[in-house]
Parts: sequence; C-alpha cells; structure tokens
Amino acid sequence: MALEEYRNKRNFSETPEPSGSKRPRPRHAAPIFVVQKHRARALHYDFRLEIDGVLASWAVPKGPSLSPDDKRLAMQTEDHPVEYADFEGVIPDRQYGAGTMLVWDRGTFEIGEGGTAGDQLARGRLSFLLKGEKLRGAFVLLRAGAAGEGRQWLLIKRSDEHADRLWKIDRFDGSVLSGRTLEDIDGGRAPGSSDKKRSGR
Ligand code: MN
Repeated sequence: MALEEYRNKRNFSETPEPSGSKRPRPRHAAPIFVVQKHRARALHYDFRLEIDGVLASWAVPKGPSLSPDDKRLAMQTEDHPVEYADFEGVIPDRQYGAGTMLVWDRGTFEIGEGGTAGDQLARGRLSFLLKGEKLRGAFVLLRAGAAGEGRQWLLIKRSDEHADRLWKIDRFDGSVLSGRTLEDIDGGRAPGSSDKKRSGR
C-alpha cells in the first residue's frame, strides 16, 4: 500500500489536509480506526482502518450502522495517511473532495480471526472489533463481486451485545474531537466552543 494516489489527487498548497510525511507509528500501538463525516458533492461517511501503515478507506453513503439488519454499501477509496485521522475542517472549492469534514468517531480495533488485517483486506473479507466512542463491537467488511475485483464492499454489524436494531445515525451527530457539527465548522466556530463537548478519553 502506498500514498501515491492520495498525494496525486491533492494540492497541498491549497488543501489543509495532511500530506502524509509524518513518522511511522510505534509498532506496539493498537491500530486505529476513524470515521469522518464528509459533506462533499454528496454527504457520506469515510470509514478508515489502519492497516500496514496507512488508513485503508471506504466511502459509506449512508454511514455505518449498529444494526445487523443493515448492509451498508462501502466504496473503497484511496489509502490515506495515518495522520488523516486527526483531520477536520474545510477542503476548499475546486480541490479533490471539496467540502466540510468532521471526525465522527475514532478509536482502536482488533482484527478478527482469519489472518492479518492485510491478508483479510487482500481476500476481500475483513472481520474486526471496533472500540470507538459511537461504534463498538464486531463488524465485517465484504468485497462484493465474485472475482474479488472492484471497489464495492458491504459493511455489516455482527450480532453482539453492542448491536442496536433501532440505530439512527443522526442521533449520534457531532465530532468526537471537538463536539462541532458540520454547520459549526462551516460557520467558523472554534473547537471546544460548541455546546456539545466531547466526552471522555
Ligand atoms: Mn470523503
């Protein structure tokens, strides 16, 4: 995995997004995941898992769900640098992914049985346990299509004590980093000045 596609799509003198030039993370640290709510041409949620030094990424139009009844379409996108997990703000007009982004959830994950995360990604079937602030428990990402090609995957919650069949994503709006909504960020509201303060951690 490499970041060429990520870098080729962006002009870092125009966008505030990180170029991915930073240090590798300590090897013993648990891998992270992040979900970013992104209002670009269409609203979607970017779901990212740290695998082999980068953030493997999927755009999920309806966002993740804690209901095992939901099969969320997840379009694989280019790998992102690990420090992208800290990014929220406004990507300027005419830049790739122009629009407003917030860190909707973040935490660590454990890969499930079936080999390393890299192996499971290559095979098109990833099992993992999320330990976030909004998303918790067992999930699976399945690549659609028999040949194992293409970028369409499905993100599905597995049944466990964290499942919620009444899940409504809008009940869990706002940044886990700053408490801000997309509207707060658009309006130039500074981190920490929203009513909804980040809890815990
Ligand atoms: Mn996006």
